[in-house]
Amino acid sequence: TDAVTTAALGDWIRRAAAALSENADYLTQLDSAIGDADHGTNMNRGFTAVTAKLEASKSADIPALFKTVGMTLISSVGGASGPLYGTLFLEMGKNAPAGGEMSAGDLETALRAGVAGVVARGHAEAGDKTMIDAFDPAVEALSASVAAGGSAADAVTAAAEAAKKGSDATEPLVARKGRASYLGERSAGHIDPGSVSATILLRTLAEALKE
Ligand code: ADP
Ligand code: MG
Ligand code: MG
Repeated sequence: TDAVTTAALGDWIRRAAAALSENADYLTQLDSAIGDADHGTNMNRGFTAVTAKLEASKSADIPALFKTVGMTLISSVGGASGPLYGTLFLEMGKNAPAGGEMSAGDLETALRAGVAGVVARGHAEAGDKTMIDAFDPAVEALSASVAAGGSAADAVTAAAEAAKKGSDATEPLVARKGRASYLGERSAGHIDPGSVSATILLRTLAEALKE
């Protein structure tokens, strides 16, 4: 079936934790160019805490799973990314249907609300050189694929590809939000680290849904 299950979402989080750990040095390297060299450490710490928490508190309910992820990220990650990714998951939890499975359209609704929550919290617009430059085109690609009848796996695969393009396109931009904005023009010429972690999240969700 095409349903997105709690089990697949748990698999997503484990895959995301593994990929963020593998890419921790790279993410920190990106953040050392235009920030404070901790993005890999922050994401790794957060998702390590999240996987431990999910092991300890198994729930069959999708909103409960997203809420646990969001709360744990907020409490375990100190940087800007903790509250922002925490908000993403909390809002996904509030906007996902109760129970253990949802449709591709439900996932679209949840992710769109999650990204809107990040925007409401961080006030970043497209082009500000943040994770929104990956998430915005991803949500649009997700919607287009769902509208065309794509499966959840197809739609998230398209979203991950759009996120990667959006992330790559942050390189020439001058940052207008977050620590990188303190550098002004000197922030140009580097990919935004948060756009890369956002892309990793979408890529690992696509992988989990293909299983
Ligand atoms: P910090 O900057 O506090 O050290 P991180 O290094 O973990 O936190 O995360 C930095 C990333 O957070 C940036 O690369 C950017 O993508 C994202 N970010 C920062 N501020 C904002 C914001 N206001 N809105 C959206 N994303 C933001
Ligand atoms: Mg940082
Ligand atoms: Mg920091």
